[in-house]
Amino acid sequence: MTHDNSWPVALKFMSIGASKIHDKNQIVMTLDHDVQNKSESNLKKYRQIEEFAKKQGVDFYPAGRGIGHQIMVEEGYAWPGTLAVASDSHTNMYGGIGCLGTPVVRTDAASIWATGRTWWQIPPIAKVTFTGILPTGVTGKDVIVALCGLFNNDEVLNHAIEFTGSEDTMRSLPVDDRLAIANMTTEWGALTGLFPIDSVLAGWLRYKATEAALYNNAGLTQASTHTRFTHPRVDELLGNQLSADKGAKYAKSLHLDLSTLSPYVSGPNSVKVATPLNELAAQDIKINRAYLVSCTNSRASDLAAAAKVFKDAAGKNGGKIPKVAEGVNFYIAAASTPEQLAAEEAGDWQAMLDAGAQPLPAGCGPCIGLGTGLLEPGEVGISASNRNFKGRMGSTDAKAYLASPEVVAASALSGRINGPGWYERPEGWSGIVRGEGDGIREEDRMITAEEALEKIIGQLDDLVGTAEKDIHGGEVAPKEDDGTLTEVLPGFPEKVEGEIVFCDADNINTDGIYPGKYTYQDDVTVEKMAQVCMENYDTDFASIAKEGDILVSGFNFGCGSSREQAATAILAKKIPLVVAGSFGNIFSRNSINNALMGVEVPRLVHRLRETFSGVPAEVSQKDVKEPKGNWESLDSPPPAPQNTPSQEKKPTRRTGWTFKWDVRRSRVEIQEGKDGVRWSQKVGELPPNVQEIIARGGLEKWVKKEIKAST
Ligand code: SF4
Repeated sequence: MTHDNSWPVALKFMSIGASKIHDKNQIVMTLDHDVQNKSESNLKKYRQIEEFAKKQGVDFYPAGRGIGHQIMVEEGYAWPGTLAVASDSHTNMYGGIGCLGTPVVRTDAASIWATGRTWWQIPPIAKVTFTGILPTGVTGKDVIVALCGLFNNDEVLNHAIEFTGSEDTMRSLPVDDRLAIANMTTEWGALTGLFPIDSVLAGWLRYKATEAALYNNAGLTQASTHTRFTHPRVDELLGNQLSADKGAKYAKSLHLDLSTLSPYVSGPNSVKVATPLNELAAQDIKINRAYLVSCTNSRASDLAAAAKVFKDAAGKNGGKIPKVAEGVNFYIAAASTPEQLAAEEAGDWQAMLDAGAQPLPAGCGPCIGLGTGLLEPGEVGISASNRNFKGRMGSTDAKAYLASPEVVAASALSGRINGPGWYERPEGWSGIVRGEGDGIREEDRMITAEEALEKIIGQLDDLVGTAEKDIHGGEVAPKEDDGTLTEVLPGFPEKVEGEIVFCDADNINTDGIYPGKYTYQDDVTVEKMAQVCMENYDTDFASIAKEGDILVSGFNFGCGSSREQAATAILAKKIPLVVAGSFGNIFSRNSINNALMGVEVPRLVHRLRETFSGVPAEVSQKDVKEPKGNWESLDSPPPAPQNTPSQEKKPTRRTGWTFKWDVRRSRVEIQEGKDGVRWSQKVGELPPNVQEIIARGGLEKWVKKEIKAST
């Protein structure tokens, strides 16, 4: 799926030399982001997208029909057990219906249009186990807001999440709640968040199939939902359900007891801060605007929950719906037209209009800071959407909180952050139960013989690994033939090496790497790009870094916006390889797509910090101040935890250390200065398909060759 960005993708598609979409049935185009903008330039762009879609014969949904992600789900394009991608960061939402949804960048989208193919490096998988039953008055939104705040040290950064739990537990999470949770796994830092194909989903699919058979809603869509949601197709899916292998091992396991959760509010201005509603309500925080909008929480069930707040209040107001608090603006926009129609039929939409809500067209609008009703300087807003970083919903001097639809509605009604009072704390509650592992008490664990065997094998693997580490002083010794030699394509370098230049910071965003002011200038030369590379992070970088250096930085390198020049500027500086504790996902894709190599070696970052900044390894990930330039990018994440390094820190330094990446052995070797220690470790594989993209000079060139080969 592509949305308002379909035209830039189309331009890229044409610039690569493609003219015909490889498989029109793979592609959906929707217009959703800037739907209130009636300027000639926006209408022209929308016309161009529509004409292009018609010419190519792909399914197209015009402005006002709804948010692309919602359309993908309600129209059955995102299908359980399949992979669906969109050129948008909230593609994760499809995981709510057991469809592996994950974002791609525009070049990937153009490449899929042209070839039907794309590439992946398989991420680490985190298992998140829910236990207990979600209490009344607590929603899926509270679950994900709490997860983002309770596990806020990048625990699932760039992981694929599998959500799991007992049948009883999962039954307390309806599909709409799952969609909200999966949607905000993006904010939690994950690449995708997948729910199981279970009885809850089966019920939803059956309902959709029956509805599609009864009402062919062709009036709302030019596509044919009834051919996607059919009972035979659901039968086939349920007869061949995908599920995790028994005894599967995970990179990480976390658990949360849903029965111990209460309503939660995120913010202000950071999803890493989540506070129980009762604590915020006690602070009497006055609000100016409330938003019931977005792909996260604006389906009919969300609109119903919000409307119930007003309907209940009418009971105490002589049957008349009370107005929202004086001075509060309350905006409502459904996730799609069918969801709005359902809310209208239930009387929910009207209840909110009677309360003084201001309706907006089905689309993104204020969620992305576009159109009517944005936050003004000094204002406070509460929203049912998914992102609250500074400036996202309006002024950078405003405060934005995120909450469930009913909390948004109750806050609009009272003029203060507040809830409807539906939640009652259970007797004997003693805090939220959460942590690492699956949360199941050993005495409660039912285990089959097969699972027991898998577990023993897993434990043996771990024992062997530990023994190797002990023997080799904390490092697994290199093995010439450890069975995982990677094929190296002819012409691709077997080894990449150079001196380490260290940029000691976490969360260096794409604006820090390549300044925004040059992003939309088409005439920037390669020399100029090299000169301004990392300028917003450190103006001395250009003079310190040299051709052939290996750039090493901290965690979440390249977070923020998706500008591709962040990768090309580093290449312009003639740096072939970036090493980081971890990468922002979009940067990882952009770098491979633009032929820049990258590898994650967290240990190297800790060693450099220990040596040059006097920061012990166990705290080094938390010890670095976010670069100042991050605040200048609207796509910036919240700041990393801060403290003051014990020694004066240089933003960029030559280290005298050398780094060698043996591509065939997927192993890196570090020499810590002339007389320093030498160590090595295994790293992720650079498989031949990715080498091929790099060797051809990036994805665009790869696509060109593919097109040529097929004609
Ligand atoms: Fe993105 Fe918000 Fe639109 Fe969802 S509603 S696609 S989060 S801008």
